[in-house]
Amino acid sequence: MIDLRSDTVTKPTQAMRLAGFDAEVGDDVFEEDPTVRQLEERAAEMFGKEAALYVTSGTQGNQAAVLTHCNPGEEIIMEANAHLFLYEGATMSALAGVQPRTIQGERGAMSPDDVEAAIRKDDIHFPETSLICLENTHNKAGGAILPWDNMKAIHEIGQRYNIPVHLDGARIFNASVATGISVKEYASLTDTVQFCLSKGLGAPVGSILVGPKSFIKRARKWRKRLGGGMRQAGVIAAPGLVALNEMVDRLEEDHEHAKNLAESVNSISGLEVEGKVETNIVLINVKETGMDAEAFLAKLKEQGVLAVPFGPYTIRMVTNKEVSAEDLPEVKKQLEKCVQA
Ligand SMILES: *Cc1c(COP(=O)(O)O)cnc(C)c1O
Repeated sequence: MIDLRSDTVTKPTQAMRLAGFDAEVGDDVFEEDPTVRQLEERAAEMFGKEAALYVTSGTQGNQAAVLTHCNPGEEIIMEANAHLFLYEGATMSALAGVQPRTIQGERGAMSPDDVEAAIRKDDIHFPETSLICLENTHNKAGGAILPWDNMKAIHEIGQRYNIPVHLDGARIFNASVATGISVKEYASLTDTVQFCLSKGLGAPVGSILVGPKSFIKRARKWRKRLGGGMRQAGVIAAPGLVALNEMVDRLEEDHEHAKNLAESVNSISGLEVEGKVETNIVLINVKETGMDAEAFLAKLKEQGVLAVPFGPYTIRMVTNKEVSAEDLPEVKKQLEKCVQA
């Protein structure tokens, strides 16, 4: 099977497994696990923030951020197809008691004017706007990179209105590798950032939340309430350190593979790439084949290639470290076969 469903299917490298084997550990709820502390310090340094918190997943990182930034009855501004809105089980409502205010963006980027207009005035009828959430790269928009100027303009609005900005940076390293803008520079335009170790970087478990020291202290308590207080977590944090230290540059390879795959797709009549391919995600429209996404994917699976539906006629392929350059001609061949069927 060639698995292009997600970059979450990546398996830990030998170096990661050995790092876990050798890791020095302690009880992390007592903040006594040296490996977790090392990972958190490294992450804070890379992102230019005071502190960091190792969390079990991207969802837990985003939701600990929401719970720490917001109070019940408040509102968060986010893009209409944000992961926080679409794919986190309405946790912000279920647990934090806040509601989303969504804005339709273009390739995941909200217009700064729309963001400013959505900020609530001081009125007894209204919830207070307590957070602006950005997503870079934007998953639903096909791995789109938020333009630097867009992030900067929204950050300035946040500062002007005294509203913090949180970045769902699950794939911020993909944006960084593609643009050459460091994660530290991106983080300078937001108050807090969540990023995933377990996607393209290949670690088996975990995400990190970075931000100011006082914020992370409170987020640590929310993580505990969410059941994310872990004990000898150095065993899983050690692979995370390997991910940060050794796996960032390799994302370039995933991006090259995605561009290569997109060219193949566009050369097949009946298939069309939706939007631009900027990082490791390729969205493919299959409508012209006469099949919907589910039917097309079922056929593709029979032929040994996995992808996921991303709309009635759209499928998503995510290049990742388990898929080599040699696999790409095979993917092309199987796509051609599917179309001909
Ligand atoms: C994957 C992802 C998350 C959540 O990460 P999990 O570890 O799956 O909970 C959050 N935001 C974006 C944009 C993602 O792609």
